[in-house]
This record gives sequence, structure tokens and C-alpha cells, in this order.
Amino acid sequence: MKTLLPTSTAGSLPKPSWLAEPEKLWSPWKLEGDALIDGKHDALRVALQEQQVAGVDIVSDGEQTRQHFVTTFIEHLNGVDFEKRETVTIRNRYEASVPSVVGPVSRPKSVFVEDAKFLRKQTDKPIKWALPGPMTMIDTLYDGYYQDREKLAWEFAKILNQEAKELEAAGVDIIQFDEPAFNVFFDEVNEWGIATLERAIEGLKCETAVHICYGYGIKANTDWKKTLGSEWRQYEEVFPKLQQSNIDIISLECHNSRVPIELLSLIRGKKVMVGAIDVATNTIETPEEVADTLREALKYVDADKLYPCTNCGMAPLSREVATAKLNALSAGAEIIRKELSA
Ligand SMILES: [Zn+2]
Repeated sequence: MKTLLPTSTAGSLPKPSWLAEPEKLWSPWKLEGDALIDGKHDALRVALQEQQVAGVDIVSDGEQTRQHFVTTFIEHLNGVDFEKRETVTIRNRYEASVPSVVGPVSRPKSVFVEDAKFLRKQTDKPIKWALPGPMTMIDTLYDGYYQDREKLAWEFAKILNQEAKELEAAGVDIIQFDEPAFNVFFDEVNEWGIATLERAIEGLKCETAVHICYGYGIKANTDWKKTLGSEWRQYEEVFPKLQQSNIDIISLECHNSRVPIELLSLIRGKKVMVGAIDVATNTIETPEEVADTLREALKYVDADKLYPCTNCGMAPLSREVATAKLNALSAGAEIIRKELSA
């Protein structure tokens, strides 16, 4: 990456109101059949355009072709029955009715590869593609077949590796795995979570990232955050092992979070996507606030390894708010670039 402090988003961006109901997760599509396929592509183009106009350096599809960052991937796999639903507690936090694993899981064909090729054709900028991580996938399902969390995670890791290799061949520069579950199940993360993630990136030559956050700005997550006390030290549990892993980039929530920023010293040597935009509020950060977060992070991350980013996805925000936040991110990064070059 030639630009110093290349900016990016954690992943999702709001969808246009003609494609899906805005400001909602799992929002149903408003189109069907061929019109839906066209609509998703058009929305992807718009999301790309908005990122480019806002000066985002590493662009993404804004997850315009998926309803949800985990479910949409799983819908394309064999072995999971979406009709047979069970209620489980997701990330030890909230109950949800989820699909069941009913047989061996496999990927009959590529899930996002055609979308990635489409995005690749539209831009010369580096592109980042997000996939769910193995641990977050198993946490979103009822497993009546393997009945073993670790076993299912290894199966998903194999499948993710197949998809990731095809995404790399399609020209994706950074493949990101979303693992909010890493902030909850510390023992499992250290026992096999990071190992399954390394299985998912096996043999890849492109860069790889893991995104670990405190979730979208939905009520279940903001309520959970209130119980975490004055210092959020969750990252401390998984950073030492992540620092030793083969993952290139770690994407974190930093702005407005109570994460003690000095925890970043535990991942010294890794590239860090520093969340400098809060996705759980409609208040637009000022460029100076973004710069403050980045300045703090620079005490623990070398400048050539710091990637300014959003805390998490922005799907549940209005388009107006999301765009303003992207502009603030770019402007804040520019302040620091000037300081560094002075
Ligand atoms: Zn996130």
C-alpha cells in the first residue's frame, strides 16, 4: 500500500431504499429475480462511488449483495436447513431463531466470487472483501449434526479457505474475516479459534485481516457494552496469540469505546485497522476527533502499519450519516498524514 494511513471501512454500508428498507439489519429485499440481481449490482456501484468520492483508499462492496454478514454466506452451503430453526443465545448475549446444521457442511459453488469480480472491474483501487470467521459462523447456528463446536469450526474453516482462494484469484487484495465472537469466547479462541482462522487463510498470498469488534449499534450490543465496566479489556485475552498468528491485519474498535488503547502494544508488528468512527451513534465525528484517535494509536502502532477504519459495519445507519462519517474519516487521516510529513 503506497498511501500512508490508507483508509477503509469495516465492511457494510447502508443499502439504497429502493433495494432494501433502510436502517435495518436483515432487511428484506424490495426486488426479485433478475431485477434483484441488477439492483444489487447497481447498489454495489453506488457504494463504491460513495467510498471513492469520500476518499476511502481501500474500497469494498459495502456488502450490498448480502442481507447479513454471516447468514448470507451460510445460506449458500449444503448441510444447513433454514426451515428447521432453533432458538440459541448468540455470543452469550441475545436469543435468536437460527437455522440448523443437519448434515455434513460443504460449499457446492462460490458464494461471493462473481460479486468480487464485478467490483474488481469497477475500480483500480485495492479492494477488501469480508467473510464471516469460523467461530462467528458456528455461533449463529444450531448444530444438531456434529454437536461439537470445534469440529464444525474446522469444517467451516475448510470451506472459507476454498472461497478465499477464489476471491484472491478474482483480484481481491485483502480478505477479512469477521470474528466478533473473539470478544466473547476467550478460552475457545485461544484453544482453536485462531487455529481455525489460520486454516481459513492457508496458502493465501493476498493480505488477510481479522475484524474483532463489539458489534453493530443494535440495542442488544449497546446494552451489553453497558455491563462491561469502565475499561474494556476483552482484547487483552486474545491479542497475545493473535500477535503470534499468520494473520496480517487486525481490525479493532477504538473510537468511543472503553478499550485501553495501550492494549495495542500486545499486537506490535501487526498492521492495525484502527476504528476511528463510532457506528453506534448518529453523531458525526469531527476530523479532529478522528485525528485524536489515530494519534493515540500511533503511540503503539508504527505509522506504516496503521490503517484508519470504522469501528464496525455501517449497514444500520442512514446513508447521509454514513457518508458524513466516511468524509470525517478521510479528513482525520489527512490531518495525521500532514503531521507525519511535517
Ligand atoms: Zn464489527
